[in-house]
Amino acid sequence: MTDCLFCKIVSRDVPAEIVREGERVVAFRDINPQAPTHVLVIPKDHHPTVAELADADAGLLGEVLGEAHRVAEDEGVADGGYRVVFNTGAQAGQTVFHVHAHILGGRGLNWPPG
Ligand code: C5P
Repeated sequence: MTDCLFCKIVSRDVPAEIVREGERVVAFRDINPQAPTHVLVIPKDHHPTVAELADADAGLLGEVLGEAHRVAEDEGVADGGYRVVFNTGAQAGQTVFHVHAHILGGRGLNWPPG
């Protein structure tokens, strides 16, 4: 999608600190980190939300989740614990409508989230 910010990160038209890249997924550091580790994992294909990705390509959603765990391992937070969050819809705080998993770790995380 030409007007999608995260599609532009995939195509390198918008800069990002990419930490992992596979054939169908990309992981990059969140520009406004909320924890010592805050990485976003996205599919290269454009799907607005995790619900739409699950319906369209459940295998690709599995790849996003697998990549999330590999990011946690690379970042050294897999053993201590980390959170994978898909904000889904405006009321949940989703601002970029290209599905992304937030990988948050490196500090104690409160529950319930805000
Ligand atoms: O879940 P939500 O849609 O709000 O998350 C979007 C995330 O994308 C935010 O955490 C924001 O900091 C991040 N972002 C980014 N790089 C950009 C624009 C937004 O990492 N260029």
